Amino acid sequence: MESGKPLEKISPFLQKYADTLPAGERNLLLRQFQYSPLEDHPTEGFVDDPLDEETNLVLPGIYRKYSSRILVLVSEHCPVLCRYCTRKRITWNNHNRTATPESLRSFLFQMPEIYEVIFSGGDPLMKPTTTLREFSQAALTSPSVHTLRIHSRVPTTLPGRFKEDLFRFFSETAEKTNTFLVLHINNASEISPEAADIFRRLKSSGVHLLSQSVFLKGVNDNLPALKNLILTLLQAGVRPYYLHQLDRIFGSAHFEQSDKTGCDLMKELAKIFAPHSLPFFVRDSATGKKPVQC
Ligand code: SF4
Repeated sequence: MESGKPLEKISPFLQKYADTLPAGERNLLLRQFQYSPLEDHPTEGFVDDPLDEETNLVLPGIYRKYSSRILVLVSEHCPVLCRYCTRKRITWNNHNRTATPESLRSFLFQMPEIYEVIFSGGDPLMKPTTTLREFSQAALTSPSVHTLRIHSRVPTTLPGRFKEDLFRFFSETAEKTNTFLVLHINNASEISPEAADIFRRLKSSGVHLLSQSVFLKGVNDNLPALKNLILTLLQAGVRPYYLHQLDRIFGSAHFEQSDKTGCDLMKELAKIFAPHSLPFFVRDSATGKKPVQC
């Protein structure tokens, strides 16, 4: 990471929304984005690229970890900078490392075994809708691609980005192919009324909504927080999909909570929710996600 970069980024929407919450909730929400001096203590095992993603880079901005799907870096920007972001090497720098629709199209042309294309970043929804459409058209020119997945934190951190053109992009894409929006949400308080409205509209246009949450000490590492998160997601029509154990990115050790605590919480949650409503508790790695051994 380069020195001298701004250390905090919180979208004006999120800052304003957080200020409407009770102090405890506000602090929990903002802790994810606020610098702490604890970040400056090097911790063994916490590195630049904890998932070794760069070893899977096949073309600029195109990563292939699995034979049947690829991850496409559409944007390196986000409305926020999460202190524990696995891709700090990308989101905290301004290098242009994104793919292009042309490179995506020609790569897929040679790879008929790929059926799913994941738009990620950074946050793909930071790109103009015309660019998203170009990427989506490039992906769908391959006859084998039948699923598009978009990873985003925009609905909860920059809901004003959802104007008619973006809703239209989603509804048109969902008409053409299986379209998943995977939301990064760690705490129930992140689901503002604006975000809930966006989820309703997307769902009614046929977009599948999933969430992935990161298990974070001091943010959601207790039963009331996780129970409330799952309940609020389900009420908003979002399937709780993954609870990720923290990726060991440098500067994030103070967010790490033990596997045992996570496993104990998952056991309690299993007494409350049906299996199809529970997220998978997983740890990601260079070779893929694996269930945390409980
Ligand atoms: S929203 Fe995702 S990609 Fe962006 S800074 Fe946060 S964790 Fe990283």
